[in-house]
Amino acid sequence: MKKIQILTLLIVIFVSFSCKNDTESVKKVTKVASETEQKLENFGIVIHGGAGTILKKNMSDSLEAAYKSKLEEAIKVGHNILKNGGTAMEAVTKTINIMEDSPLFNAGKGAVFTHEETNELDASVMDGATLNAGAVSGVTQIKNPIDLALEVMNNSPHVMLSGKGAEVFAKEKGFELVDPSYFYTEKRFKSLQRIKDREKAELDHDGTTAFIDPFIKDSKFGTVGCAALDKNGNLAAGTSTGGMTNKRWNRIGDAPIIGAGTYANNATCAVSSTGWGEYFIRAMVAHDISALMEYKGLSLQEAAKEVIQEKVPALGGDGGIVSIDKDGNVAMEFNTAGMYRAHMNAEGELVIGIYKE
Ligand code: ASP
Repeated sequence: MKKIQILTLLIVIFVSFSCKNDTESVKKVTKVASETEQKLENFGIVIHGGAGTILKKNMSDSLEAAYKSKLEEAIKVGHNILKNGGTAMEAVTKTINIMEDSPLFNAGKGAVFTHEETNELDASVMDGATLNAGAVSGVTQIKNPIDLALEVMNNSPHVMLSGKGAEVFAKEKGFELVDPSYFYTEKRFKSLQRIKDREKAELDHDGTTAFIDPFIKDSKFGTVGCAALDKNGNLAAGTSTGGMTNKRWNRIGDAPIIGAGTYANNATCAVSSTGWGEYFIRAMVAHDISALMEYKGLSLQEAAKEVIQEKVPALGGDGGIVSIDKDGNVAMEFNTAGMYRAHMNAEGELVIGIYKE
């Protein structure tokens, strides 16, 4: 009898122990599954419409509302794509298309004018999963330069095409070329005339040309850009611009330069820049942010701050970036008075900003 009792006790202990283990392993599996699910559901998108001397006192309520509603419209397009399982690259390019088609921004329709009163557009994209990239510079007849940058990445053996050659490539790939007059807007044309008048006044005054400093320091940049993280953990970034008002000699800025205007790497983050391109090229802004994360172990916010608040101003440049990292953290860092910007996370929370908060 005693023996039986002991045996029963042993069985009870064994059964309850293995049950406990089972419950724990079930709990564990459930936890891992929900973490994976959470990870897979994590996505986000961030955009900019340019940084510069954007002051509340110079902005009418209706213009401010127009910017905000266009930023919202654009980011929601990309967010929807991501929500429905689309790729980060698709979200980036489709979001940028909305801003390229709006005369509010210095990209596509609404691009700034060159000294010769033409519009020369630059754009680039980068895929963080493959580190593949595409760019175009100095195109004059491409309605949506970001689409051509994507085409260069996907369907050419090159990374960057420029000017007429890029347009021959576009035609071969079935792109419709628009008349250069498509890009004309009165506002941008008047800006050019104002800058030329000031330039002339400077010339008359002391015989030196002030092409760069005072005018650029004062100007709003207006380039557009986007960075996104999709549900598969892939990052992508893109940037599109008309460059800087009164640019000459086929000047190319940072926007189509991989590593300066655009960078994406699944190991770190995706970045799009806006600002005084010459400095952003010299500081390799977008890549530097990624490198600080990769080599120095900085967080995205720390890296963005170091580059935008320390390194670029130390050279004498200004501007900003938007960026998202592989975990969905976002940075919208700028050292100018303002930057048109918006961010949306996986929960659909929307943040829109123009000025310094
Ligand atoms: N970064 C652009 C350029 O230098 C200008 C801008 O951001 O608006 O061409």
